[in-house]
Amino acid sequence: MSTLRVVLGDQLSRGLAALRGAAAGDTVLLAEVVGECTYVPHHPQKIVLVLSAMRHFAAALAADGFAVRYTRLDDPANAQSLTGEVRRAAAALRPEKIVVTAPGEWRVAQDVAGWEAACGVPVEVVEDDRFLASRKFFEVFARGRTQLRMEFFYREMRKAHGVLMDGGVPAGGKWNFDSENRKALPKGLRPPAIKRFAPDAVTQEVMTLVKEKFATHYGSADGFDYPVTAAQARAGFAEFLAVRLKDFGDWQDAMAADEPFMFHALVSAPLNVGLLDPLELCRAAEETYRAGAAPLNAVEGFIRQILGWREFVRGVYWLHMPEYAARNALGADKRLPAFFWTGATSMRCVAAVVGQTMRHAYAHHIQRLMITGNFALLAGLHPDAVDEWYLAVYADAYEWVEMPNTRGMALHADGGTVGSKPYAASGAYINRMSDYCGKCFYDVKDAAGDRACPFNALYWDFIARHADRFSGNPRMAMPVRGLKNMAPGKLAAVRQRAAWLLEQMETGAKI
Ligand SMILES: Cc1cc2nc3c(=O)[nH]c(=O)nc-3n(C[C@H](O)[C@H](O)[C@H](O)COP(=O)(O)OP(=O)(O)OC[C@H]3O[C@@H](n4cnc5c(N)ncnc54)[C@H](O)[C@@H]3O)c2cc1C
Ligand code: SF4
Repeated sequence: MSTLRVVLGDQLSRGLAALRGAAAGDTVLLAEVVGECTYVPHHPQKIVLVLSAMRHFAAALAADGFAVRYTRLDDPANAQSLTGEVRRAAAALRPEKIVVTAPGEWRVAQDVAGWEAACGVPVEVVEDDRFLASRKFFEVFARGRTQLRMEFFYREMRKAHGVLMDGGVPAGGKWNFDSENRKALPKGLRPPAIKRFAPDAVTQEVMTLVKEKFATHYGSADGFDYPVTAAQARAGFAEFLAVRLKDFGDWQDAMAADEPFMFHALVSAPLNVGLLDPLELCRAAEETYRAGAAPLNAVEGFIRQILGWREFVRGVYWLHMPEYAARNALGADKRLPAFFWTGATSMRCVAAVVGQTMRHAYAHHIQRLMITGNFALLAGLHPDAVDEWYLAVYADAYEWVEMPNTRGMALHADGGTVGSKPYAASGAYINRMSDYCGKCFYDVKDAAGDRACPFNALYWDFIARHADRFSGNPRMAMPVRGLKNMAPGKLAAVRQRAAWLLEQMETGAKI
């Protein structure tokens, strides 16, 4: 019985469920389609990464004896949609069955649900067991809980997978060392250079194609240097373990204007397409700790991101889709200002993050959360527009991970499913955690004057707009009290400044 085994662009793992049990007569299908490159205007470096990794993966499968059917983007016969390419392959190969690993995104799962009717062939969707928490595991965790908290999920995951455990107790006697991971970067401390990967001939060909086809997308394919094979991705991660992991914890939340990567691992892009295995990353980090080569606060912090946050947001996404995508708990309704796409703003922090995002399709977590995300939260930007931006601009962006982070963690638009309080912060936080403010056009200490930091006025305006809602949240008690204690004249001036800033943005004027 011949089977058509479909591998999607973010499923490039040799152990993929849909490849298991492949037999003579089976064909593996991979298809580059315009539809997947343009449902949002993806950063050209993300498109290059996915297409080049697909081409390398297909070549490796063929070298190992798999029969591979591969559709290139510029093939004149290309139907340019996943369903269209599966239908074309089914018509040509006449398989008795189609097997595919469950897609990561709701949108693609809807497509797959239509394949059987479109092709007239039975379709088997097998579970994606590259994730460490199955959807069933998460449903059981969520059952009966009024609030889902990552911390409790993470502890269950540590126990279930025996990661950083000493018998029945957490290594070091504590589950979480986050309080040690919030240091500001001291002057003069510079992170080490990052291992990057020069494009080979395959990647160069893809870069030319992408530049030609997606010239209007934000950012450029130029400068692309992501890993595109599992071997390269593992080499990049090995360098992180050897050089940066030991400092990852201390400076995890720090930001610096000329340092886009700091001590971060840069594994999300290769991990999300399947070139790395999440459990292997956690085990390797744990071994580094056990060997005495990295401290526990760094290793636990790193493992929590992968075993905890990454799995948790995926669980939330699948538990609540599709209604999650329509949530807008704070009624945010403003348009996305043009500077998100151009970087043309006098706010040095925002300009720096948008600028490095354009150059590298990368910003680290605190930049995404506390600079662009925080600005979008405070200014009341509509979650649909913000979601679209985050999905478009990052090389690691897939809706299952992007949306709970953006709509949930950054915008609090999910009403508190991902986080118990909004991550709202004024300029003081940014000043403490970065070197952006020193050379900024704006004055981080001022909230109401002509040169006052926009984050300050927008912060107090945000708290005032939602004071009724937040007064019932004990974790928001401090800012609500701060608002009540503010002299009425001062509050009026601050809110006037916020209104002016929002009006400037609405008219497209530069701020
Ligand atoms: C608004 C917003 C949008 C985001 N969008 C995405 C996205 O589209 N794709 C994506 O992979 N991550 C997203 N994140 C999470 C996080 O910012 C990135 O995973 C991280 O910056 C990737 O860089 P790194 O590999 O150097 O991460 P490190 O800081 O070195 O962390 C290691 C790994 O942990 C995982 N991780 C860390 N934090 C999270 C998190 N909050 N959710 C899920 N996984 C996490 C990632 O796989 C990451 O590679 C988003 C965060 C925010 C606040
Ligand atoms: S002063 Fe305000 S706008 Fe300027 S860098 Fe600091 S936080 Fe950003």
